[in-house]
Amino acid sequence: MSDTTYAPAADFAAKAHIDAAKYEEMYAASIKDPAAFWGEHGKRIDWIKPYTKVKDVDYSFGNVSIKWYEDGTLNVSANCIDRHLTTRGDQTAIIWEPDDPNEPAQHISYKELYAQTCKMANVLKSMGVGKGDRVVLYLPMIPEAAYAMLACARIGAIHSIVFAGFSPDALGARVNGCDAKVVITADTAPRGGKATKLKDNVNQALLNDFDEVKCLVVKRTGDQIAWRDGLDYWLHEEAEKVDVDCPPEEMNAEDPLFILYTSGSTGMPKGVVHTTGGYLVYAAMTHELVFDYHEGDIYWCTADVGWVTGHSYIVYGPLANGATTLMFEGVPTYPDASRFWQVCEKHKVNQFYTAPTAIRALMGQGNDYVTKCDLSSVRILGTVGEPINPEAWNWYNDVVGGGRCPIVDTWWQTETGGHLMTPLPGATAAKPGSCCGPFFGIEPVVLEPTTGEIIEGNGVEGVLCMKDSWPGQMRTVWGDHERFMKTYFADYKGYYFTGDGCRRDEDGYYWITGRVDDVINVSGHRMGTAEVESALVAHSKVSEAAVVGYPHDIKGQGIYCYVTLMGGEEYTDELKTELRNWVRTEIGPIASPDLIQWAPGLPKTRSGKIMRRILRKIAENDYGSLGDTSTLAEPAVVDDLIENRMNRG
Ligand code: ATP
Ligand code: MG
Repeated sequence: MSDTTYAPAADFAAKAHIDAAKYEEMYAASIKDPAAFWGEHGKRIDWIKPYTKVKDVDYSFGNVSIKWYEDGTLNVSANCIDRHLTTRGDQTAIIWEPDDPNEPAQHISYKELYAQTCKMANVLKSMGVGKGDRVVLYLPMIPEAAYAMLACARIGAIHSIVFAGFSPDALGARVNGCDAKVVITADTAPRGGKATKLKDNVNQALLNDFDEVKCLVVKRTGDQIAWRDGLDYWLHEEAEKVDVDCPPEEMNAEDPLFILYTSGSTGMPKGVVHTTGGYLVYAAMTHELVFDYHEGDIYWCTADVGWVTGHSYIVYGPLANGATTLMFEGVPTYPDASRFWQVCEKHKVNQFYTAPTAIRALMGQGNDYVTKCDLSSVRILGTVGEPINPEAWNWYNDVVGGGRCPIVDTWWQTETGGHLMTPLPGATAAKPGSCCGPFFGIEPVVLEPTTGEIIEGNGVEGVLCMKDSWPGQMRTVWGDHERFMKTYFADYKGYYFTGDGCRRDEDGYYWITGRVDDVINVSGHRMGTAEVESALVAHSKVSEAAVVGYPHDIKGQGIYCYVTLMGGEEYTDELKTELRNWVRTEIGPIASPDLIQWAPGLPKTRSGKIMRRILRKIAENDYGSLGDTSTLAEPAVVDDLIENRMNRG
């Protein structure tokens, strides 16, 4: 792994919210007296009734109870909209960039956001939705997705967003999972030049079991759709009939704000519940400090609102801070691989936040797509979702950032609500591939996997846990508090268990080594799969790699590598030998791949994470029990890999 550090430039640090000295001081204060720290920072949002109690957390297994600001009341949509109206009513809240670059972009002001959100809130009320009711959103990346989230928050309804790429079955399971009263969708979703008939999917999902569930439909394309009389409503028609003002509901800090399912890369997705007060404080604070957001900046996170990243860092965090947030309907490679960079140039984006999977894919297309665009407005780059291999980090830094933009590698989870481990751009000397260290109030510990003992000191490796709570932490699994306790608090008593392995290097920097399940043991040596993957991707012909363990007669576990090559490269036996030798020299003979399988496509979740648990099964020749594959982006990839495995491709 790389040990070069990239310190923020002095003039950058001078203008940043947090420099190195301030970080040290605030971090120490946040750990010494969390209640005082979060009591102070809770004031960054507006409360209807201010809190007097800040923190009440019991992590003991059998009684996990997490409460922040528990006697305070507030409304999230009032925080994201109403409180900005007097100072920045005419400022753009949302820039919307459509899938087709020839369609005009939209600039939605805070005033407009207020009107649209209130109307949608009143429409939901007229459909019988009230405080505590659940609403499923199955929408393209259009402004109405933000209006719908905020409209639910305004009336105290709990939203559960289902990514628009999911199948009718996955949608049906989630509608059922939270017993939703209404589904909000659109006629058709254009994405990457292709059209998904969302409303048809909803009809199919609701067909047999949910004939009570109403549907509110946004007209996106005007395509012909099948209508369920008496149950389906057009948003634009209903909006004409309602008031343009809707008073925000007074919510308790601990009332649920939303339910969101995890990606499902390690098992059945979990319905994560986030509440109102602590979540908003944490999302807003991390958005401002981690991206060093300043008044007037244009901020762009490329995630979909179907993921937690879209919740915290497209909608709630930025809007609570009165920011201008960009929403993009399309994909990075449509019409071609320069789309991201063209959008940055067009809207003069200052902060750009994306995922390693996108960075690697675009890196594989060559530099011209980037360098032909003017990226001089970009000041900060961010990544999230998976470990970023140093190779991709360096490309992001040099080619996209022109060597002048700090990169924030943000480690966090659906469960954590916001960033837990990340560099701060004006404070941290980043190391490529490391998520560096904790945000304020976060106390990471490295535990010995089997005994659960704390491993002190540097140059150590183990399981990543958190010692204490933070305001943005999830509170429960929807309808299954038992599963919440079992998943996160049973294995290591008194800690929050992240499920990830990590290494704390000699300088105290944290490196995520993959899921705990992904750590392999070769002839007694424990090794994170991420390290072998990084080495493979560092080869100029390799674009992506996924590494898993498989049973090996002599070594206990062998190293099984799935490799995708750069566009135009040839998949040959000579190259396999070359790659084996390459990993040997990069890491050492112990990491030498036992088997390399060519994988022109890898199984990924819809959010772009490689599903290693499926690759593990294929490597083990165990095709019968692949588990839940409902969140796969392209299920056919799995069949191809199995066929190759059978032929030892
Ligand atoms: P499931 O819990 O259902 O298996 P998931 O863990 O993929 O799904 P998410 O909450 O979307 O669902 O992903 C969180 C995980 O993503 C983290 O636990 C970690 O493994 C990985 N991750 C996220 N950001 C980073 C990062 N910056 N560096 C390394 N890993 C990351
Ligand atoms: Mg997870």
